Amino acid sequence: MKEIARETVVVLFNRDLRVGDHPALAEACAGARHVLPLFVLDPGMDARGRAGFLAECLADLRASLRDRGGDLVVRRGDPAAEAVRLAREVNASAVWASADVTAYARARERRLARDCERERLEFRLFPGVTVVPPGRLIPTGGDHYKVFTPYWRAWAGTRWRELVEAPERVSLPPGVEPGELPEAEREPYVPGGESRVRRRMELWLRHGLEDYAAGHDDLAGDRTSRLSPYLHFGCVSPLELARLGSRNEEFVRQLCWRDFYHQVTYAFPEISRRDYRPRGRDWNEDKDVAQAWREGMTGIPIVDAGMRQLAAEGWMHNRARLIVASYLTKTLGVDWRVGADHFADLLLDADVANNCGNWQWMAGTGNDTRPNRVLNPIRQARKFDPEGEYVRRYVLELQSYPGGAVHEPWRLSRPVRGYPSPITAQA
Ligand SMILES: Cc1cc2nc3c(=O)[nH]c(=O)nc-3n(C[C@H](O)[C@H](O)[C@H](O)COP(=O)(O)OP(=O)(O)OC[C@H]3O[C@@H](n4cnc5c(N)ncnc54)[C@H](O)[C@@H]3O)c2cc1C
Repeated sequence: MKEIARETVVVLFNRDLRVGDHPALAEACAGARHVLPLFVLDPGMDARGRAGFLAECLADLRASLRDRGGDLVVRRGDPAAEAVRLAREVNASAVWASADVTAYARARERRLARDCERERLEFRLFPGVTVVPPGRLIPTGGDHYKVFTPYWRAWAGTRWRELVEAPERVSLPPGVEPGELPEAEREPYVPGGESRVRRRMELWLRHGLEDYAAGHDDLAGDRTSRLSPYLHFGCVSPLELARLGSRNEEFVRQLCWRDFYHQVTYAFPEISRRDYRPRGRDWNEDKDVAQAWREGMTGIPIVDAGMRQLAAEGWMHNRARLIVASYLTKTLGVDWRVGADHFADLLLDADVANNCGNWQWMAGTGNDTRPNRVLNPIRQARKFDPEGEYVRRYVLELQSYPGGAVHEPWRLSRPVRGYPSPITAQA
């Protein structure tokens, strides 16, 4: 028999769309008679190209909760106001959620805390969005880690929490109208949801992980996990993935980068707009230059291939993200915010902490200890796409040009029809 500590708890889901290893849900189901899992479609959050993926994640979560006797209750409006309104309606005594890091999420959490206090509801935040909660690891003399390597050492050496099982039963309070799921306007590039990603994760761990260190920079081979959209929406627990993937240090290190940027964002919530380390740069405001970059028409094939992959698939290989970001900010001298906004518009895995953290790193305004680092796109292309296969896959004008020569079309004896000469703007 479970010990009933509370009658009813509302669990507000945000980007933790799973039943496995969900501490707030698990604890609510273990200790309350009734649990009301809630998702509120917030008109202030524009999911853009991710709406279809989100819709599938929610449908999958609802199905998992229904399998356990419960449901996902869906509402529209301000998540804080709706959670408190529903809590009153079902006579709940508590509202629980997973703690998040962005300015937007933290403002929501503050509203929730305030409204819960007013209504005498218990409000609690649980871990689950990262492996190690932001703010847990603090260096001496600071409030967060500013450099990755010391963070990695502390992160790898700390004790992680135990995984929690998915609840066996979810008992909804009686008489709640479940509400309608959003309709997917467009089929997502990849199917969303926890049950979908489980299979993908198992396959990746079995067949992809061993090769990760050697293969993760291979642009044409595309040998990374592609789990980022699922991590962003929380269909997969980052802690579970880190535990299951722990035999490959290089892979776990990437999950640590994710945690690193989350703890930076937690400490510096203005990360999406303000320079983390201002350097007083004058950015190039030439709109045509930025537009050519967005369209994949800079005349540098490896840059254009990355940008066209993004437009076609809502995704870009990490190595290409680094190259196009260096090219935009360091070579063309365009403000990193222009790049980050474009990524946020198109990426299926768009994530404030990872996107802006990485953009600022590459632009030299962020956490890189070598802020003047510039990636030479031609050298990068020769190294990570030696046969030009990645370039030819996305830059169709160059399809018939063989081998690695494709990286420098201006050297080819035959001119390439319809493909521009490199933009020469300088930072
Ligand atoms: C300019 C720029 C913008 C980026 N924007 C985003 C973004 O909006 N959302 C996003 O999730 N990632 C972003 N990244 C990081 C990285 O490119 C993607 O996480 C990765 O390509 C996703 O592919 P994967 O899941 O196959 O990664 P894998 O190589 O399989 O790595 C596993 C997981 O580790 C995490 N990870 C890997 N590399 C990084 C990194 N450099 N920083 C933080 N976390 C990392 C991701 O959650 C990823 O899913 C950006 C990188 C750059 C250079």
